[in-house]
Amino acid sequence: MDADRAEVPHVRQLLGAYVLDALAAGECVRVSRHLQHCDGCAGAYVEVAEASAILGLLNEEDLLE
Ligand SMILES: [Zn+2]
Repeated sequence: MDADRAEVPHVRQLLGAYVLDALAAGECVRVSRHLQHCDGCAGAYVEVAEASAILGLLNEEDLLE
């Protein structure tokens, strides 16, 4: 399992663009598949997604003011 993981590059640097849907289709699929097998990147993805959601809420509040 370790050898298998070593062949797969982690995707943390792509998570920001992934959350914003700014990746090319091929990269988006690669990130999606990686997250299903890598707890570390999946945890990082949750943090990025939550931060993105918070930013979205802040933007909505700004619009309401
Ligand atoms: Zn990973």
